Amino acid sequence: MRITDLHCMRLLGPRPHGGGGKPGTFSKLLVRIDTDEGSYGLGEAENMMGVKEGIEYLRAWLIGRDPMAVRPFFSEMLYGTVPPHPRFRVYDPIRFEKTYRPSLICSPTATPTGPVIWALSGVEMALLDLAGKILNTPVYNLLGGRYRDRIRIYLDRSAPEAVDDLDAWKKMAEDSVRDGFTQLKFDIDYTASDLVEDFWNRSIPLQQMNGMVRRLKSVRQTVGQDVELCVDCHMQYNVVDAVRLAQELAFLKLMWLEDPTPISNPQACATVREKSPIAICIGEMFIAEQFRLFIDAKACDIIHPDVLFCGGLQEGRRIADYAELHYLPMAMHGNGGCLATIAAAHLAAATRNFLGLEYHFWEAQWVGRYVNREGVSLFKDGYLPLTDAPGFGVELNVEVCREHLAPGETLFSEP
Ligand SMILES: [Mg+2]
Repeated sequence: MRITDLHCMRLLGPRPHGGGGKPGTFSKLLVRIDTDEGSYGLGEAENMMGVKEGIEYLRAWLIGRDPMAVRPFFSEMLYGTVPPHPRFRVYDPIRFEKTYRPSLICSPTATPTGPVIWALSGVEMALLDLAGKILNTPVYNLLGGRYRDRIRIYLDRSAPEAVDDLDAWKKMAEDSVRDGFTQLKFDIDYTASDLVEDFWNRSIPLQQMNGMVRRLKSVRQTVGQDVELCVDCHMQYNVVDAVRLAQELAFLKLMWLEDPTPISNPQACATVREKSPIAICIGEMFIAEQFRLFIDAKACDIIHPDVLFCGGLQEGRRIADYAELHYLPMAMHGNGGCLATIAAAHLAAATRNFLGLEYHFWEAQWVGRYVNREGVSLFKDGYLPLTDAPGFGVELNVEVCREHLAPGETLFSEP
């Protein structure tokens, strides 16, 4: 069996509750990889700078290959090969014939980040869906088998738009618990955005700190003592104020404080961790090598990879296992729509040290519907239920995709 083509299309639609509770838009790339025997795989990628171009670049290297050789393809694209470089028989889309192409010869120790690995993350997702279908088994079985049959979802609430209205905070908390979620996350940088004094200096003045505490306290009082609450700092703050923030919020019994300082310095984060009464969670944009650096530097208590950014599910497998060797739990960042969330849930199912998987788009119903799982809803009672269907068990919802196809894009349907 050989790969015959890769299609990519961009979706675009409304997002009623974005950062800081403000309305905005949501955009995603969907990927379909075809084979000469009719099987195909679906993947999702983040629509960020250079990712669509990255997917198109990978397409040229993918056509003609064995679809089951996922890790060798990933390794070659990300880390290159060592001499003598192998040659792969591939289909040349310009000459319409099979030809031999040398493999990439970039440094075997290179660790690219950014658009290359974000594109590769979506392509790898589609390749694993395809591999599962070829082997007639769910993707979680390719990742080691499932520990659990439903995946705990944690809902990202950011902040209400009326940020200074305690009733708005209480209503947002009440609504989330009523909808079945038992783990919630808030963006501390939006929590008191009306009280910021200096946009640049990474500090949290006392008035702003007090606003953060007052508003999150109203959430804790609303949801009671048993609901898990998390706070995201978006890599914004200096060390001393991140420590003070952790101390001020300790009485709320938070599950974690996320990305307190900029991510380029593991030692700075390690200093915060050493002094913080709250567990430190890091890594939503990290690749495996960055997790290794932060774990080795004792700069985190919880890791937080995202399958759209870390290189995909198999890189997620490596990252989770490295953390497990240190008895560190893994939460999963999730900026994905329904397909990436289902894909991430397959890794979560096969990961012993899994804690919770993030979802952002509760109010944007179309984001939860551009793929379908026959007869199974995306979420039930705050969990994502898994199925026994091959691959990710999803099919494209062509109606939703057509309705939200971005300008200039061509719809691909089922082949
Ligand atoms: Mg975050």
